[in-house]
Amino acid sequence: MNDTEKLQNQIKKLYEVLEANRYLSSTLNLTLVLERLLEKAKEVIEAEASSLMLLDEEKQELYFHTVLGEKSEKLKNIRLKVGEGISGWVAKNGEPVLVEDCSKDPRFYKKADETSGFQTRSMICVPLIYRKRVLGTIQVLNKTNNRNFDQEDLKIFQIMADQAAIAIENARLHNLATIDHSTGLYRKEYFLMRLKDEFLRYQYTGMPLSLLMSDIDHFKRVNTEYGHIGGDIALKELAKVILSVLNETKEEDISGRYGGEEFCILMPTANDKRALELAEEIRTRIEKHRFFIDGREARITISIGISSLPLHKDLVKDYEDLIKLADEALYLCKDRGRNCCAIYEK
Ligand code: GH3
Ligand code: MG
Ligand code: MG
Repeated sequence: MNDTEKLQNQIKKLYEVLEANRYLSSTLNLTLVLERLLEKAKEVIEAEASSLMLLDEEKQELYFHTVLGEKSEKLKNIRLKVGEGISGWVAKNGEPVLVEDCSKDPRFYKKADETSGFQTRSMICVPLIYRKRVLGTIQVLNKTNNRNFDQEDLKIFQIMADQAAIAIENARLHNLATIDHSTGLYRKEYFLMRLKDEFLRYQYTGMPLSLLMSDIDHFKRVNTEYGHIGGDIALKELAKVILSVLNETKEEDISGRYGGEEFCILMPTANDKRALELAEEIRTRIEKHRFFIDGREARITISIGISSLPLHKDLVKDYEDLIKLADEALYLCKDRGRNCCAIYEK
């Protein structure tokens, strides 16, 4: 390559890296953002593999968050102490490194290769830094066709590391602002915002939309028997069960904490039939779940009221009407003896 070609090549790469900025703002799905970013890094820097490690601040350990390349799955369980291995060194010192021959570098952590069966020859590792705080590291391994990485690669990779750090920080702030930390569910304000958005979407597209509202049966008794703190433990556990059901269905349903012991689930694109199925699944899972508070077992059940569009379209003029109807359906459940689900009916 002559100098002009080199320069053109470099500019092309920079454009590609800049393009990656678009991902950062297009979605809040951190896993997806980081995967795309690493994919781009692998392509632009022409590496055989790339990965991203995050720092577990409490344990002062790095763990693999995203790994791209052959034989990557096995790495997910590896943890490095800060200071251990090349990545550990980079996290500790906050400086990037370019290692041309890993076999000759005493910092190199051989166990990762032994676990994955991958053979690392060379590596660039860059710290992910946001406002002077190290969040983790990203690395590319082995330039393709047995070539060596150079300083230009390092510079470009450094820009991508900054992009990744911003994405990670954005996601962290988003979580902080939207998630109720004692249950892991969305806060009421954010949940309502999403409900409103989905209601508007329904009005445009006519695609179904359902809302579930759950309430713990006789929760006052739980508080009386186990104390308020005991009740809080049960609430956390209950939220976990709901989240694990939602995780399994892999739909876009989201759950929020509506009141103290009232949780809501928003099901974009689900009709009343699917909403009832999910409600029943959650209700029975809670019924079967064994709740332990201070070593004693507590029996906990919930009731779930449902409103749905288009089923209730004549009664729902605004997103708040969906809440009202789900709440009324909930009273129906309580009247029917609790531990059951009901779709709103007049
Ligand atoms: P019902 O079956 O009719 O729902 O009976 P209930 O006892 O659950 O009655 P209700 O839903 O009206 O009251 C819920 C109680 O839950 C009231 C309040 O003391 C308690 N509670 C609300 N938020 C929290 C919370 O965050 N933690 C704890 N421990 N208790 C809460
Ligand atoms: Mg209640
Ligand atoms: Mg209750």
